[in-house]
Amino acid sequence: MVQPSLSSSTTHLVDRFGRQLTYLRVSLTDVCNLRCVYCMPEDMTFRPRHELMTDEEIITIVRLMAELGINKIRLTGGEPTVRPNLVEIVRQIAHIPGIRDIAMTTNALLLPQLAEPLARAGLKRVNISLDTLNPHKFKFITRWGDLDKVLAGIEAAEAAGLKPIKINAVVTRGFNEGDVVDLARLTLDRDWDIRFIEVMPFGSEADFAQSVVVSSQETRERIEAALGPMQPVAGHDPRDPAKPYRLAGARGTIGFISSVSEPFCEACNRLRLTADGKLRLCLLRDGEYDILTPLRAGESIEAIKQAILDAAYNKPWGHGLPDGVIPTSRLMNQIGG
Ligand code: SAM
Ligand code: SF4
Repeated sequence: MVQPSLSSSTTHLVDRFGRQLTYLRVSLTDVCNLRCVYCMPEDMTFRPRHELMTDEEIITIVRLMAELGINKIRLTGGEPTVRPNLVEIVRQIAHIPGIRDIAMTTNALLLPQLAEPLARAGLKRVNISLDTLNPHKFKFITRWGDLDKVLAGIEAAEAAGLKPIKINAVVTRGFNEGDVVDLARLTLDRDWDIRFIEVMPFGSEADFAQSVVVSSQETRERIEAALGPMQPVAGHDPRDPAKPYRLAGARGTIGFISSVSEPFCEACNRLRLTADGKLRLCLLRDGEYDILTPLRAGESIEAIKQAILDAAYNKPWGHGLPDGVIPTSRLMNQIGG
């Protein structure tokens, strides 16, 4: 747990470097219907149900975070679509005063049945994880995924108006580094934003991740060698870690999330809430503040809010990967990506 050394004197989430924290990524579960090689082991054990926030606890915490200035929510996991009552959770979050935007990161497998009810409940957009267009490699990377189901999920998201569609592709050497060209080519005739992510090291999977990392620069060079030069797209939000580029004549954009080679900590406006109710201050650092325990112990909402303000005030400046500091307490599915 983070021991706040300095305290905040504001009523809004701002850290001691002056970064306004307005974006909360909420993990609804650590459970997933896939087992991507860079995310978790095949025999992953998940947390018992009673350790996870209930629906009511999620809504209470998001409401109090909105009172502290959070205006954007991203639902994630594990796989958020396997959480029971997801549509109702979205509906309730959408009604919380101050929440202007709700998005979700998903593997899309369950979107054919969920995209439309989610859009009706107030979900605005989805980021869909897809690392290759080759069905055999897709199965290999996800250990048992069916590419056709993901493609059907993307179609369902588009039909439900969950746009713009963003595709996240983690690039891993020996698995899909050459497949980035086919993914990038999709932007020529689809208005999708495809973002290539450098694989990050976590806990027991850290050695593997570090042995397969492919830099964004290498990915970019591979795409440009095959498809021609890309130009930067004007009007980019500096808080978005993926600076967008466009191939000549393309409808969609291509971005690179280079957490390892070019960290974007200066513009970080995020906090993360894990499915077991911990506020994680930086994706790549282990420091967390436990919200669920005091909530369950009946502490006053005002006291909890003050403790959150203090914890957020002490958000670390950036991650420690360049100094060899690797987060060990959780895997990606236990944080929320
Ligand atoms: N299950 C959902 C999905 O895959 O979209 C949401 C959770 S997943 C943990 C969130 C994002 O983290 C996905 O885009 C996934 O590809 C990415 N991810 C998982 N493990 C990663 C790692 N070690 N390094 C970089 N990105 C990772
Ligand atoms: Fe599941 Fe997402 Fe992790 Fe893949 S990256 S195993 S889909 S949580």
